[in-house]
Amino acid sequence: MHEMSLTEKIYRLVLTEAKAHGAERVTKITISIGELSGVAADSVEFYFRMLAKGTMAQDAILEFNRVSARLFCIYCEKEFNKVARDFFCPDCGNLGRLTAKGQECTIESIEVD
Ligand SMILES: [Zn+2]
Repeated sequence: MHEMSLTEKIYRLVLTEAKAHGAERVTKITISIGELSGVAADSVEFYFRMLAKGTMAQDAILEFNRVSARLFCIYCEKEFNKVARDFFCPDCGNLGRLTAKGQECTIESIEVD
């Protein structure tokens, strides 16, 4: 399960950051999930609750932002947003190549008290 190790990483990073800022508790964590990352927000939430139980982050709200995939057309040499299940360039109709955007899963922000 790749969500479990991912959530552990998020959890550790959040606690490290919160402590570094002298926080008493973590109130909210915003996480970006690329649409092609294959990460299920429900699983992240589930593992996070398990890990954070009894810690300063146990009541933190997890907010997930879906990030649409960006594709790159080698013919037009430009990036475009993937629409629905369509991977084709809106200008020339050729198949776009995947870029890093849309495959990531990163912490966007951490709010603490
Ligand atoms: Zn094109």
